[in-house]
Amino acid sequence: MEEKDVIKLYPGHWFYNASVLGFLNLLYKDVLTEEEKMNFEKEHFKANYVILKKDYFRRFAEFIETQKNREVAEYYKDNGIIIRYKNDYFLNYISNNPADEGVFLEYIKSFEHLEKTLTCDICGRGYYIEEKVFDNMIKKNPEAFEKFVSRVSKFEVSFDNMLASSSNEFPNSFYNKTTLKTCHLCSFLTIHKYTIFIKLPDGTKIFVNSPSFKVMWYLNRFAKSAFEEENNKSKPREILAMGIIEYTLKLKETLGIWTGMNIEIVMMYQDRSISFYSLPYETVKILNNYEISSLLSTINERTVLEYIIRGEYSKILDLAYAILSALSTDKLNDNKYLNSLIKNSRNKGKYNMLNLANNLLKLFSLLKEIEKTFHKGGIYVKN
Ligand SMILES: [Zn+2]
Repeated sequence: MEEKDVIKLYPGHWFYNASVLGFLNLLYKDVLTEEEKMNFEKEHFKANYVILKKDYFRRFAEFIETQKNREVAEYYKDNGIIIRYKNDYFLNYISNNPADEGVFLEYIKSFEHLEKTLTCDICGRGYYIEEKVFDNMIKKNPEAFEKFVSRVSKFEVSFDNMLASSSNEFPNSFYNKTTLKTCHLCSFLTIHKYTIFIKLPDGTKIFVNSPSFKVMWYLNRFAKSAFEEENNKSKPREILAMGIIEYTLKLKETLGIWTGMNIEIVMMYQDRSISFYSLPYETVKILNNYEISSLLSTINERTVLEYIIRGEYSKILDLAYAILSALSTDKLNDNKYLNSLIKNSRNKGKYNMLNLANNLLKLFSLLKEIEKTFHKGGIYVKN
């Protein structure tokens, strides 16, 4: 990949991150070939940025064109968002002007000629279509193109109903302007932010945010697959913890201190209010330890994971002793306490129980070892 053919995107505010991830997810799902998918993570996710080839945008627009007979709004509707006319999330991203669908596709195809020029309040960098290409594009239908581009190039109520309207209720450093200057790239990416949110059974939607696109990519995909399982009653914090375990085991990677401290779940409720949930950094550090993750994966009991999340390590020891004591008195099967905590069928029976008790003891001693590396106040001091 040559430098001039790619753009580099750096993580920022959660809604920008969700926008980038949302687009990457659709691109991966619908446009990339099987061969491209195989190397996608390795080629695109770097230490602190993600690489996008400029021609992905043209290919993406062409995909929509061929698949849906130029019905852009239909394509996005199939992916969970409505972009045409006034609705809960967007007011008129694509208007009722029949030319708008074609204008939108032409606009995205021109992203093959993006360059970093002016500024942008959303991404902080600013990617705009090359002037010559942009002028040629406008000439095709000056009235429709000019209206569309001016509408989508500023972040305000007409662009994103939910976020923009919350600006009056929750003014902060990000929302304190009524209109944000939006580069061409962001004017497109930001429509994807809600496509990456995962819907929970109670209607709440979640997105896992972090200062690393790679971590976000992985954890959101994990959460999606976990919640797609039928009857999954896990709480978001359990899913987050399990995602970090999976990440640790599969990628064998240590999360940097900055990344580990800032993994959070953005929760969007049905009334469209938003809250954030994160695991304490010590917990993330513990789950990101390969030995601990391996043990937790072998043990595979929700109760034990809960103990870790709540920092109730002594209960792990209690459980191990309860198993050993039941084994010594041969009263395994009618032990209500154990039956209420141990649910995995692979942990049932004398032999498996003994194994489980051993693993719990090992886990407890590893936790104590790691705990020594934290200050009394809970601040991480050494590796
Ligand atoms: Zn931008």
